[in-house]
Amino acid sequence: MLTDYHTHPERVPKGLVGHWKAHQEHFVGSMRTYVARARELGIGELGFSEHIYRLTLAPGAVPWEAERTGQGDIGGYVEAVEQVKAESAAEGAPVIRLSMEVDIVPSTVSILQEALRLYPFDYFLGSVHRIPDVADGIGAEEAYRAYYGAIRWAVGSGLFHSIAHPDRIHRKLDPISPRRLEGMMAETAAAMGAAGVCMELSANGVRRGLVGIDPNQEFVRLCFEHGVGITFGSDAHKLDDLGVGISELRDLAWETGYREVATFERGRRIDRPLLEPEREPDADAEAVAAGV
Ligand SMILES: [Zn+2]
Ligand SMILES: [Zn+2]
Repeated sequence: MLTDYHTHPERVPKGLVGHWKAHQEHFVGSMRTYVARARELGIGELGFSEHIYRLTLAPGAVPWEAERTGQGDIGGYVEAVEQVKAESAAEGAPVIRLSMEVDIVPSTVSILQEALRLYPFDYFLGSVHRIPDVADGIGAEEAYRAYYGAIRWAVGSGLFHSIAHPDRIHRKLDPISPRRLEGMMAETAAAMGAAGVCMELSANGVRRGLVGIDPNQEFVRLCFEHGVGITFGSDAHKLDDLGVGISELRDLAWETGYREVATFERGRRIDRPLLEPEREPDADAEAVAAGV
């Protein structure tokens, strides 16, 4: 199976902000196009993971995104996912999952427990977009330490199912001693493996030609060694990016040794067989067939 567990429906147009009832209609329209594209691409499970800070569930919970709150009514979002889920089930595929991408800060984490009771979420993605409580201008090594520390804190909270784009920081910072970096990554992979929290392989780096940095091959290898499961995410914010790069991520995962992808239903993890990469036609066999 291939999955895309990290997608954002198109943003609620400015004119609709404040008109809550219209949000559901907007989301349904956008999500239907995503579902149709996922079906064309053969994606078995598609997860919608809107940013928590855009939804009315958590106004101002992510301090640096406070102005963007209100770009999506939480009730309209959840209902829209339920609607396209039922429509997609009637068509046979893909399976639709309800999620949110949640910035790893204490104020969002405290909301998640309540959110789980209120809405039928299947999984949560935890993201570090900014490193909390760290002053500007710190060195790369401290920034890496704070970044991986934030991820381990999220893992310890027990509320996240997969860590979104965990390699994102690698494109932003200057290189540091590989030995120290590997130590931080190994400690993080060990914590994730012990807690059963997955790592997302994000296609963002694939689309920008950054594979090796993001996803960081060393971190992927360490996660495999520590038994960390994987999810895939295109992090599409528009239809054209949906599913793009997922098969390349699968190839990378396969080469590392992964044979399963994690899926989630109401928080319960189900590992599914990873769709095997298509093999290049055997050159020798072709030559024989051609009588060369
Ligand atoms: Zn993100
Ligand atoms: Zn995202």
